[in-house]
Amino acid sequence: MTQDYDELLEKGLDEAEESSQGERFEMPEADTRKDGSKTIITNFKEIAETFGRDKKDFSNFIQDELGTSGHLERGELVLNGEFRRGNVQGRIENYADEWVFCGECESPDTKIVKEKGIEMIKCQACGSRNPV
Ligand SMILES: [Zn+2]
Repeated sequence: MTQDYDELLEKGLDEAEESSQGERFEMPEADTRKDGSKTIITNFKEIAETFGRDKKDFSNFIQDELGTSGHLERGELVLNGEFRRGNVQGRIENYADEWVFCGECESPDTKIVKEKGIEMIKCQACGSRNPV
């Protein structure tokens, strides 16, 4: 149960930071539910919207990371296999690191643009572009 303790601890720290800094991007928390041998991310659509990314691309990334397959169903992502919430959450944060946050200023206010066939993260805050 150390995982749960760590999560609580992190939450506490997050809240402390938030109150001192005011506005700050909040990493979305995955809500998961088990359905037999499947794991369902019930708030998948909301997370994709928070990141401002396409659900399909995002779901492909999560499936690759977890080494499984799945499908979207009414805004939920249904994954084949049993995965702990903490594991799923870690993959979502990997996605954010690779595909959402600006490499320069770490703003989440970014867009994916294609230049000469290369996908870049274009930051709306500082204007920098970094290949994904
Ligand atoms: Zn930036």
